[in-house]
Amino acid sequence: SDALLRVEDVAVHFQAGKGRLVRAVNGVTFALKPGETLGLVGESGCGKSTLGRAILKLGPLTDGRVFFDGIDVGAGDAAGVAQLRRETAMIFQDPYNALNPRLSIGSAIEEVLRVHKKVPPERIKERVAELMQLVGLSLALADRRPRALSGGQCQRAGIARALAIEPKLIIADECVAALDVSIQAQIINLLIELKGRMNLALIFIAHDLGVVRRLCDRVAVMYLGRIVEEGATEDVFGAPKHPYTRALMRAIPEIDPDRGLPADPLGGEPPSPLDIPEGCAFHPRCPDVMPACRQNPAPATHIVGQCEVACHLYQNENTNDQQTRERIH
Ligand code: SF4
Ligand code: MG
Repeated sequence: SDALLRVEDVAVHFQAGKGRLVRAVNGVTFALKPGETLGLVGESGCGKSTLGRAILKLGPLTDGRVFFDGIDVGAGDAAGVAQLRRETAMIFQDPYNALNPRLSIGSAIEEVLRVHKKVPPERIKERVAELMQLVGLSLALADRRPRALSGGQCQRAGIARALAIEPKLIIADECVAALDVSIQAQIINLLIELKGRMNLALIFIAHDLGVVRRLCDRVAVMYLGRIVEEGATEDVFGAPKHPYTRALMRAIPEIDPDRGLPADPLGGEPPSPLDIPEGCAFHPRCPDVMPACRQNPAPATHIVGQCEVACHLYQNENTNDQQTRERIH
């Protein structure tokens, strides 16, 4: 297959003491091609970050398999992990936390070039300058430590450090959520420019759907550890099928300015991943709930129109699993 990344039936469960199990990720399957951008959306606590960390082996993987560019990530042999570190990077919400507070940002970028890229010493200064220019940071800031930078500058430094790897895949976890709106737009524009220029595959974890719509080729909507809908961005935004996706969309005013914003389209907080409802996990909040939804788990995602959806509403439209598999793999 031509996928750069294949995620197959991945689960991540944690012990939370007293035999309580946090079921953070519960059987996620998707694939990503080189250069493709996938938005991973859903409310906080739905497993997006945990999934992102599992994919890059920065966190546990309880079940299922992850294949990245020929590496079986779950197998976790040292050579595979080293290759993963050379070919992937993660960008975090809090850029101050992601960078070593005692290193100047120039040194932080240098460290990556020396350790992971084995760039010869005489080339390093030049390469640091190129990377800082690429992300729109003045070279005069190279000697500053993260705390001496603004949030936007610091996130650019984090992106420069990630790009120093020359990764094939970046996972960005809420990487603009902590920034002012105008700075958010600058960082998003930067990511759009970079992904075009570098054929970078990007998994963009976000709860801001407006940003995802601008940046991403495809969208996967997660709810309580499962993907409930996945498809091309224009299809998911243009004709959302899953009741959860529809509720998420209603929460953004610019999608449908005429309708007016319901006070709380999702009806409060999602249930805890410690106590996932029986049947379809969304049923206590679903405006379209049917009796079967309380008893039977939602079906695996299957093709509905242009998207893949996991919902009893569409059970009879097309449940051809083989067709689903072919699209995913
Ligand atoms: Fe709603 Fe039923 Fe679909 Fe779940 S399976 S989203 S409860 S209609
Ligand atoms: Mg998160």
